[in-house]
Amino acid sequence: MTKRILVFRQISDEQLSALKQDFSVDYLPDTASVEDPAFLDALAHAHGLVGSSLAITPALLDRAPHLETIASISVGYDNYPVDELTRRGILLCNTPDVLTETTADTGFLLIMCTARRAIELAQLIKEGNWTESIGSDLYGSDVHGKTLGMVGMGRIGAAVARRGALGFGMKILYTKASPKPELEREFGAKRREFDQLLAEADIVCVTVPLSAETEKLFGAREFAQMKPGACFINIARGKVVDEAAMIEALGDGTLHAAGLDVFEHEPLAADSPLPQMNNVVALPHIGSATHETRTAMAQRAVDNIRLALRGERPISPVNEEVLKG
Ligand code: NAP
Repeated sequence: MTKRILVFRQISDEQLSALKQDFSVDYLPDTASVEDPAFLDALAHAHGLVGSSLAITPALLDRAPHLETIASISVGYDNYPVDELTRRGILLCNTPDVLTETTADTGFLLIMCTARRAIELAQLIKEGNWTESIGSDLYGSDVHGKTLGMVGMGRIGAAVARRGALGFGMKILYTKASPKPELEREFGAKRREFDQLLAEADIVCVTVPLSAETEKLFGAREFAQMKPGACFINIARGKVVDEAAMIEALGDGTLHAAGLDVFEHEPLAADSPLPQMNNVVALPHIGSATHETRTAMAQRAVDNIRLALRGERPISPVNEEVLKG
């Protein structure tokens, strides 16, 4: 029997053709909601899912009686009920490594733009308001030579820290990660307790996955612990932060500035105050959004689903237990 796959995010024509050689494919790249009737119809027959950015709930799994494998086009898997998938024997795969460097570039983009106030000052020109040399009220802060505090020091965290240490001569602190002796040797990273890092860092950059333990890891208490003048950068997930508390801290000056690629609710609501704040650089979740990297991520998902549905080991399984069962 030819297995059926539901692809609910855009992949290249070549990748789609490759999948069609082995499987019957329902291609619905513009699916905006899991309530979409075409999505639900295809789900009812699917042995495999390929996509991202939709929350797959246990209730939805009840409507997918044939499902064997999900190949997410993302490294983060907070949109999936992993324990429930494992209980049902459904394999989940993700796309680590291929997006690490691009996401770290985005982290550094936000560090530079936030500390140097690049977007705010570019806007001055766009609006025709550059009429004289800018005064000290519009100066930014140095990035080189400062202290970068990484909250999470996995693949992406290490890649951001490496840029900071080797490219910008920054002192690197890290927390919320197991000891990394290899990174301590490579660029002198130092492990700190969370509160100590908050007190010492000029720039705090978050790269932990969203989980029950990391949800709202940052709130009023943590922003108050940060150094005056320090910048907060989030390239992880919006829900790692208590967004209301962050908005308040940015408004009353407790938090100097923030560079944000991710938000509690995405797309960001039109009435969110964040984009209007001069001390905020907000990007529309573009961590991995380059042609090269999105193609590589889709390719990894295609490879994962082909291998898994053929009964072979995929490249990047999340819930390995299913393979042993
Ligand atoms: P990773 O290699 O697994 O690194 C995660 C880091 O967080 C590790 O240092 C890990 O500690 C630490 N950590 C894990 N669970 C934790 C917990 N419960 N509490 C505190 N720290 C914890 O993952 P990655 O590839 O770097 O990706 C990290 C996250 O970035 C993804 O999960 C995703 O949400 C986000 N991301 C965002 C974008 C974007 O577009 N903005 C793009 C890609 C990824 P250990 O070192 O001890 O394991």
